Amino acid sequence: MSHRSEPNTMHNLSKATYLLEQVKEKFPKPPNQVIISIGTFSEIQQHDLEDGFEILARTDSYLENVNIKYITHQGKIQCLDCDYKGSIPSEGIEYSEVHGVPPRISCPTCQSPTVLIISGDEVKLHGINDQIINIT
Ligand SMILES: [Zn+2]
Repeated sequence: MSHRSEPNTMHNLSKATYLLEQVKEKFPKPPNQVIISIGTFSEIQQHDLEDGFEILARTDSYLENVNIKYITHQGKIQCLDCDYKGSIPSEGIEYSEVHGVPPRISCPTCQSPTVLIISGDEVKLHGINDQIINIT
């Protein structure tokens, strides 16, 4: 294991563990499907969570028949320079090479980097089976 990949794995694992604990709390018996919402501005992306769950599934039989589905939550910002409020096209989101560092965002109207994230910087449990969970 290299020094570069180890912290990444730990980080992904802790996020996946946290989500799994929330599911277990609500469903002591494994559900068929878990839906996870990933914000477009989150420092964790889908492949990170897939890695995390894959590792957990090796030792936790709870995950054996659980289908994990991922959805994207379109984040919203407010620009502090031109007052633009709304979402950002994917070209305006620059994902960091460094793990755990949030992506760099600039305003789609005036290109200012001084933006406030209103929503979309988090990863959360969205649903279990056909039940929508709203954790805010
Ligand atoms: Zn702006």
